[in-house]
Amino acid sequence: MWRNDIRLEGDDFRKIDAHSHIQELDYPFNVSITPEEFIDLMDAYRIEKAIISDIDNEKILDVVKEHEDKFIGIYWVNPRSRASVEEMKKFLEKHEFRGIKLHPLLHMYSPTDPRVYEVMKIAEDFSVHVQIHSGHPPTSLPWQIGELAKKFPEVRVVMVHMGHGNAFYIQAAIEVANGLENIFLETSGMPMPAKIRQAYEVAPKRVVFGIDLPCHHPVVEIAKVLTSGLDKDAIERVFYKNAKVLL
Ligand SMILES: [Zn+2]
Repeated sequence: MWRNDIRLEGDDFRKIDAHSHIQELDYPFNVSITPEEFIDLMDAYRIEKAIISDIDNEKILDVVKEHEDKFIGIYWVNPRSRASVEEMKKFLEKHEFRGIKLHPLLHMYSPTDPRVYEVMKIAEDFSVHVQIHSGHPPTSLPWQIGELAKKFPEVRVVMVHMGHGNAFYIQAAIEVANGLENIFLETSGMPMPAKIRQAYEVAPKRVVFGIDLPCHHPVVEIAKVLTSGLDKDAIERVFYKNAKVLL
């Protein structure tokens, strides 16, 4: 399934994948990837580093330990679970996980739940970024994420999928990022290349490339940035330089 022999003309850029997973996703996704398959893709498409997470944080810890040069781990927390929040602190302290993943759709909570504020406070204390899934009502709309980011201006908030599949949400993601300097927009799974250019026009240092393996293939995600209408310098920023501040 993971072909690594497809080449895109004009792609000689080095990259950081700001958002992916080492995951086995069952129904309805029915996709999976192993660390070895992931690394093959990284080598084929000049991806120097990938920020990864999974609901199984122990597994991510093992992968990161084994491939320190390739992967950066972030902790997938469920703010509704006390045990999960406590374990997150340990992972940030002891294992040097460099971020936090929030998935309000999966765990069914609002980004403006006070328990999420507690997680944000911890992110602030540890100076790590927070990735948050976007694009699905009623739990992960760009405006809600904006409300959260506004309360914690010191925390870098990566709005994963930058609104996802709906043009109203994608445009809202760009507008929210325009008003809030701590919001980053991540490009995976969002279908409109022109929106990457429009996002860059309002937030040139805060648009970051991501793949969201195993849901998407690198070639498709790379093609979106290459066809967005951005010039070479801007593409370099989106593929690589902008994500540096998250690491
Ligand atoms: Zn994700």
